[in-house]
Amino acid sequence: MKKIVILGSTGSIGTQALEVMERHPGRFKVFGLAAGSNRKLLDQQAQKFRPVLTALNDEAAAVEMAVHPQCDIVLSAIVGAAGLKPTYAALKAGKQVALANKESLVAAGPVMTRAWKEGKGELIPVDSEHSAIHQVLHGAKENIARILLTASGGPFRQFSSEQLKKVTRAQALKHPNWNMGNKITIDSATLMNKGLEMIEARWLFDLPPEKIGVVVHPQSIVHSLVEYKDGSVLAQLGLPDMRIPIAYALAWPERITTPAPRLDLTEIASLNFERPDPERFPCLRLAREALQKGDSYPCVLNAANEVAVAAFLEEKIGFIDIPKIVEQVLDRHQPSSLNTLEDVLETDQWARSEAKMFLVPGPWSRVPGPL
Ligand code: NDP
Repeated sequence: MKKIVILGSTGSIGTQALEVMERHPGRFKVFGLAAGSNRKLLDQQAQKFRPVLTALNDEAAAVEMAVHPQCDIVLSAIVGAAGLKPTYAALKAGKQVALANKESLVAAGPVMTRAWKEGKGELIPVDSEHSAIHQVLHGAKENIARILLTASGGPFRQFSSEQLKKVTRAQALKHPNWNMGNKITIDSATLMNKGLEMIEARWLFDLPPEKIGVVVHPQSIVHSLVEYKDGSVLAQLGLPDMRIPIAYALAWPERITTPAPRLDLTEIASLNFERPDPERFPCLRLAREALQKGDSYPCVLNAANEVAVAAFLEEKIGFIDIPKIVEQVLDRHQPSSLNTLEDVLETDQWARSEAKMFLVPGPWSRVPGPL
């Protein structure tokens, strides 16, 4: 029986993980549940699953459950940089970490991977694209020509630059294929999500930036591909249902059943692929540049993006202001190498306060004129 801690149990990933675990009562026991603000749902979950530990908006308690000697697997599913500390602690303690919180690897890639190696635990991706790659990756790394992350293209795939200027919060929150938390849904609409995933892939699979590509695939059936040096390309397919990669990460190296519907390719009939457009979706370009520059740039990208997305969700800025703010903060950044979690948190704080300067209207705003 595996004892599981779910960090972010009240969110989209957390609730779907509990659904998966419910089907396998003899295999999984909920050991700890941590959430941010949703006391009502956390209480309901605690009544139903009877965890030993719970935590609400309590970072120290979340870290404590993530390193508890009785915990076997930590599902890291808090959204944003709030997930950094408990994820780091779990990796350092040698736990099997099922990672949904991509921001951990984006902001703190070198620090997290060092903790993973030192802890000698397992790091299994939950992100569907990285789960796909994890499932089709075999043999020596030298055999990999490149990996290709698929992107649905989001709700504005076919919007012109003019149309993107008028996009509303409600439109951006309507993802064509996936039902996810608000932050990642906006990241999917700007394509920043794919940018963050490129950086996540760099650390998860230890690949150089030039071996990580992106292809737009509107049906979200092919979840990603690995091209080998002999020209063979391996992909993982499935309906867009996060319960599949969640089950894979929790049961690894075994496989378990899920409530997800089955893929019928004759019903899907056709699969399409296109090149992404970095002109209309500058977040993808910004993320690639941050990935190539390395050091503290990805951490700054992540923090500035979190602030900008939160402001868009509060309807304080427009959709196209998100990449503008991120770019301004990146331009102002003096890079440094991030050797410790404290370095990461310091850079994260710097980028957040810089980004917030752009949200303040008036002469004290750093941006000349409207964004
Ligand atoms: P949600 O917004 O649905 O859920 C976020 C979870 O984090 C909630 O349980 C929330 O608690 C909790 N949380 C937020 N802040 C804190 C905090 N300070 N301390 C403790 N808990 C906190 O997000 P998702 O489930 O969509 O995403 C979670 C992560 O998984 C993200 O990193 C995302 O990028 C990644 N991911 C998500 C996918 C999806 O399909 N949803 C797909 C692939 C990756 P509360 O609600 O109680 O405030």
